[in-house]
Amino acid sequence: MKKKRAVAKEVYTLADLKDWHDVDRPIRLGVFGDPVAHSLSPQMQNAALKHCKIDMQYARFHISPNELRDAIDLIRKMEFVGVNLTIPHKVAALELLDTPDENVKRVGAVNVIKVEGGKLRGFNTDGRGFARAIREEFSVDLRDLRVMILGAGGAARAIALQCAKENCERLVITNRSFEKAQKLADELRDFFAGPKVLGPVARLQAIPSEEAAIRFQIGHVDLVVNATPIGLNRGDQSPIPSRLLAPHVMVYDTIYSAERTPLVSAAIEAGARATSGLSMLLHQGALAFEIWFQREAPLDVMRKALL
Ligand code: NAP
Repeated sequence: MKKKRAVAKEVYTLADLKDWHDVDRPIRLGVFGDPVAHSLSPQMQNAALKHCKIDMQYARFHISPNELRDAIDLIRKMEFVGVNLTIPHKVAALELLDTPDENVKRVGAVNVIKVEGGKLRGFNTDGRGFARAIREEFSVDLRDLRVMILGAGGAARAIALQCAKENCERLVITNRSFEKAQKLADELRDFFAGPKVLGPVARLQAIPSEEAAIRFQIGHVDLVVNATPIGLNRGDQSPIPSRLLAPHVMVYDTIYSAERTPLVSAAIEAGARATSGLSMLLHQGALAFEIWFQREAPLDVMRKALL
């Protein structure tokens, strides 16, 4: 007799993982988050799986911080291909990995897990995804840019490390808690010891999140990146007011939203080119797919699924 299959759910939980019933196309990939209902990763990854004729599905899992260890243990035993981690698990999952890659160790956050022979390998694709997004959106490489990052959390750390690795012209980090910006700059100092000379301003700087300091730096950067969650909630102001922005800067808001984010609106008002974070989401997801399946991701299919 044919085994009874379950009906696919929008969001799975730890209880589901503990009492797992496969659906028609088995779920072997997913995203762990809290909240997770908003995640666009399933539509993008499922389109890629279908296109590549890989007979499995990617699902959302609502996993709270105190459930993470159990959930990860279960996907290891159930021989999942892997999972993505999103807020608030990217840092907490570090200690649950068997082999974090170099990027994960330096950034201190993991967004992709691959299960291999019962072992958990950890990767961070945010930085490379960001670099590809910038190339795609503005037709320029990080190495040719003077970059200012707003924030010093997980996303900011991944982006800052990528800028450093690609030898960007300048890097300025500003954050609500200045010490965190300072610490991140200190960690990256070795990358900026080289001789790219740019006149009166330092190649690597942490600055306080204050209007005068930001106003001064805007004249000495090409790209402003928002790596804070400011703009995620309705009613949020732009993390940098329009009066501080200028037409020469490019603005990348890592927040992805169907509507214009407050920063993107402020940038456009200032005459600057600006875009939000859908392209970074796409590229970090494509890189995850490549890690899981060791084959090229169908980028156009994934992009179309996000629109
Ligand atoms: P995180 O680790 O919690 O870091 C948040 C950062 O934002 C910290 O530097 C924090 O400053 C700052 N911050 C938070 N609330 C603030 C406020 N009200 N005012 C000023 N600064 C504030 O978060 P994360 O993982 O880096 O994520 C940040 C954002 O990146 C997310 O909202 C997400 O939209 C975006 N993201 C996008 C992608 C993509 O693919 N497009 C990928 C990853 C992340 P303190 O240090 O002072 O607390």
